[in-house]
Amino acid sequence: MHDHAALAAAVASGAPVLPLYIFEPDLWALAEHSRRQFDFLMESLTELDEALTERGARLIVRKGNALDILADLHRRHGIAAIHMYEETGLPWSRARDRAVRRWALQAGISLREQPQPGILRSTGDSKSNASWAGHVEQPRLKAPETIRAATLAAGPWPIAEDFGLGADDCTGRQKGGRTAGVELLRGFLAGRGRRYRQDAEHPAAAEKTASRLSPHLAFGTISVREAWQAAHRARAAYMQDGDTTFAASLTGFLERLEWRARSIQSLEDHPLPQTGSGEDIRPVPAMDDPRLATWIEGRTGFPLIDACIRSLRETGWLNFRMRAMLVGFATHHLWMDWRRPAERLAALFTDFEPGIHYPQVLAQSAIRGQKAPVVYNPVRLSLQLDPDGTFIRRWIPELAALPDSYLHAPWEAPKAELARAGVILGQTYPMRMVDHVAAAKEARERIARLTRTSRPATAQPPHRPAPMQADLPFRGMQARRLRKPKHGPAQLSFDLGTPPPAPHLRQI
Ligand SMILES: Cc1cc2nc3c(=O)[nH]c(=O)nc-3n(C[C@H](O)[C@H](O)[C@H](O)COP(=O)(O)OP(=O)(O)OC[C@H]3O[C@@H](n4cnc5c(N)ncnc54)[C@H](O)[C@@H]3O)c2cc1C
Repeated sequence: MHDHAALAAAVASGAPVLPLYIFEPDLWALAEHSRRQFDFLMESLTELDEALTERGARLIVRKGNALDILADLHRRHGIAAIHMYEETGLPWSRARDRAVRRWALQAGISLREQPQPGILRSTGDSKSNASWAGHVEQPRLKAPETIRAATLAAGPWPIAEDFGLGADDCTGRQKGGRTAGVELLRGFLAGRGRRYRQDAEHPAAAEKTASRLSPHLAFGTISVREAWQAAHRARAAYMQDGDTTFAASLTGFLERLEWRARSIQSLEDHPLPQTGSGEDIRPVPAMDDPRLATWIEGRTGFPLIDACIRSLRETGWLNFRMRAMLVGFATHHLWMDWRRPAERLAALFTDFEPGIHYPQVLAQSAIRGQKAPVVYNPVRLSLQLDPDGTFIRRWIPELAALPDSYLHAPWEAPKAELARAGVILGQTYPMRMVDHVAAAKEARERIARLTRTSRPATAQPPHRPAPMQADLPFRGMQARRLRKPKHGPAQLSFDLGTPPPAPHLRQI
């Protein structure tokens, strides 16, 4: 509703508008999609429907193949134009959009696709470079006051079970809908995000101090531009107040919003490698490969890895470094091809966004985007990022009584220490599934050998897009000074309702 270019264009056309959401069974059948994402979506659509109702319209909901539904609507009602956003998605959604484009052309329907913020449709020459500042510094689009709606039956709304999406154990899932997104953004800027920069790497602390906006940005309940403008304004206010800690945190946040666009652009420009394209360096595990199950069920015997998976299962969220570590463990230590781990992780993320997820998986598994493979040591990371074991003890209570010195690598604990803590390795908690030091060494050597020797003669050389900034540890990053926008975020207000009093913040 807010800052929505496609809706604004449809309303401006003066024709009756039909706000349409199509539930596509083929989409929900993809391995990356899951019940937690569906539930977040339903909450968001419910609120969207209320917002449309206030403006004289309704959300028209249909279930089925997008092309069939559009063709049927056109037959019955005559569609003059389709307004939509360009989507940088999975191969499936690219194929769907191509089919819709072809059909619209044949049917004489004008298809008006709006670019995503700061992202250019790929021209195939891999040099797309949309102007980020040109987008985020422009005034946001206001929500329409009224919508002249086409009259049409609104429902019925499907339920998760219609798509075979069974119950989920995500009891700590973030709530969908714009209200929840606005509350998160406001709370982050008004205080919660002060230690964002310092805490970013630490799994327990980051849960509270990161923006947690990712599912809202992925589903569009908050626009990237409104998040950027609000953070930019807050940052200026904190700088004026002399709170350089908060201002530096918001600099980091603003940079991450830009990385988002760059990452999506990289998938736009370099679609996912096909199996057998020459970018495969590891065997694809079978669906019933016990290593895959052990990893994704959090039974690896490495406390930090298992704590991350358990936390992810229950909350649908994890910070950047822990996501990177999980992918690295699956693809380096366990030497599995990136595809299945990527799908299994995506399904656990409420915020699954193909344009961030896949470029990151490819980078973390040394397929694309990194100069040299980074193979994380899960024990060293555990000691660095959860030194007092807060995160591990929360998610693996069966290890809680182990002293800090053995908590990160219980296999090193003397028998008496394990017995005192009530831990029986292999029974109350798994033995580690692999010698991580030896496995990491072997992975590095294999990758080095593979990059030295040529890939199969039939294979295309792999794309090597520029290394992504996101590969750099947050702490070590040089804080780039954000330049003052030329026009300034023109709308000083924030379409977020009445903000709570925040004495030290002049205006957000
Ligand atoms: C293997 C792997 C898979 C990932 N999959 C996803 C995914 O499916 N969806 C997703 O939103 N993020 C993904 N990320 C990026 C990152 O981990 C999450 O965006 C972040 O943890 C979400 O929390 P937040 O909203 O509090 O982020 P914040 O730190 O508050 O950042 C704000 C926003 O910036 C964007 N962002 C943050 N970090 C990055 C980054 N490194 N690259 C690109 N954009 C970034 C996100 O939209 C995020 O919501 C992945 C990272 C890795 C290593």
